[in-house]
Amino acid sequence: MDLYQHGQIKNAHRSVGQVAEEVRHQREATRDEIQALHERIDRLTLTCEALWNLLASTGDLDENDLIQAITELDAEDGTVDGRRTRGPQPCSCGAMVNHRLKACQFCGEPAPVHSVFGAI
Ligand SMILES: [Zn+2]
Repeated sequence: MDLYQHGQIKNAHRSVGQVAEEVRHQREATRDEIQALHERIDRLTLTCEALWNLLASTGDLDENDLIQAITELDAEDGTVDGRRTRGPQPCSCGAMVNHRLKACQFCGEPAPVHSVFGAI
């Protein structure tokens, strides 16, 4: 093996090591993101249950009322699929702003929020 080949092999080993390190960092970042999402789901579930308990404690509503309200809300996006899908919202400049953006991509105005839940 000549000196040139030896250098190439050494560089290849270094590159593989760098890629492995990048993959390890990405895997850890993904794991942290999933953990944060699980924690957020737990907080939202707890909040929803607390709100429902407050409403149910008035004695005016029961589980059937809750199921009907969920179904009606689910249907507002055109599909009853167990998810609340939000489409783009109109900005004051006339552009449509993706619900995931915090500001209009054209004029920079804060993204329109039409309900408290639209900001979540
Ligand atoms: Zn705008």
